[in-house]
Amino acid sequence: MLRREIPHHEQAGRVIRLSRSLLAPAPLSGSEELTPLLPYQPWTEQMQPLCYWHDEPVALLVEPQAESGWIDGRQWMSELSTAWFSLLSTALQVGAWLENHRFCGRCGTPATKLTAEFAMHCNACGHRNYPRISPCIITLVTSGEAMLLARSPRFPPGRYSTLAGFIEPGSRRKRPSTVKCSRKWAYILTSCVTTRARHGHSPFADVWLFRRGNHSAYSHRWGRD
Ligand SMILES: [Zn+2]
Repeated sequence: MLRREIPHHEQAGRVIRLSRSLLAPAPLSGSEELTPLLPYQPWTEQMQPLCYWHDEPVALLVEPQAESGWIDGRQWMSELSTAWFSLLSTALQVGAWLENHRFCGRCGTPATKLTAEFAMHCNACGHRNYPRISPCIITLVTSGEAMLLARSPRFPPGRYSTLAGFIEPGSRRKRPSTVKCSRKWAYILTSCVTTRARHGHSPFADVWLFRRGNHSAYSHRWGRD
């Protein structure tokens, strides 16, 4: 169970090592499952106190380079039970923020990590950065028992997705999907992959693992708007 409290007064605890979206697996002992939680150890200045996990303090260590055998966040998501997702998503998002805000965005001076909150502070000009959450949406478009799926050129063979994208500054959350369905993607509907909708929902639906995104999900019935 994750407790969203920064253990900034702790000196030791569990550690997650991360580089970009790759996380180091903990060494296996006996029949333990593979996890990204390294054994209890003293913390260093480079580590970011992150949270409590089953009442144990956890820190994040962002590394410049991943090592051989590190595992991508999406693969961790598919390997571990859903109970791990809150920890994984916290580590990935805070890790991405630390990697991307090492320097002040205003004056370029190296930024200083604060201890009691997630904040990168510039001692030269006073600018302060907090983890950014970019609003994005994903929309399931249905027409009877068919649903609209699309695929990116970077997807592996056989993978399709519902329609997703980031929200531009000033736009409303629900508006982009309506506009795209009505105008831009109308022609896709006749030639896209259609399949019978599977009932039930993903156990991961309420967890957004990926970096920097605040995800909202919608459904849209074709022809009703
Ligand atoms: Zn600055």
